[in-house]
Amino acid sequence: MRWSSMSIKPVLRMGDPALLEVAQKVEAFNTPELEALIRDMHDTMEALNGAGLAAPQIGVGLQVVIFGVKRNPRYPDAEEVPYTVLVNPVLTPLTRTMEQDWEGCLSVPGMRGIVPRFANVRYQGSDQHGESIDRSVDGFHARVVQHECDHLEGILYPMRINCCGNLSFQISSILKPEQASCCASNCARWRALRFPLSTMICAVSR
Ligand SMILES: [Zn+2]
Repeated sequence: MRWSSMSIKPVLRMGDPALLEVAQKVEAFNTPELEALIRDMHDTMEALNGAGLAAPQIGVGLQVVIFGVKRNPRYPDAEEVPYTVLVNPVLTPLTRTMEQDWEGCLSVPGMRGIVPRFANVRYQGSDQHGESIDRSVDGFHARVVQHECDHLEGILYPMRINCCGNLSFQISSILKPEQASCCASNCARWRALRFPLSTMICAVSR
């Protein structure tokens, strides 16, 4: 595809309230609107070298995610993930085992975090034509689908991080994922900071 014919959309950044909303189900398949949305998402993800993108990230509150990894400079050690369009996804963890690893997000530019995710998940849904998809996956494939589906619930990866010490600018890769759960003093400080804050927000909104 020529650059001039691509449709690259601005990606919303953390802080935009639209990223915190719950996305609506897609009711109609094979429509020009859905095709245009998926083309926009594809071109935007390709242009920004992302591993995945969710419709809310370009300001569309529908349950549509895309993902796929060939050789991606953002994830140099990641295995390949087939390019997938996933509509109205349902995720089911297949294990209670969590794995910690680095993630980035086009809505949180310049930062990386060590995020706990289920090691194995099943995902069901359909493609843009309404054809059903049902896969059980692990590794980076499981991680990327959990990250993208979180966007449909209004969840950004920093909200999944156990400890503030596991969030970093991209310049630093000092932390190793296996160190992520051993910073107990940081975690205690993080919890101490977070809970009074959420209590305050509840009190204000009452
Ligand atoms: Zn993201």
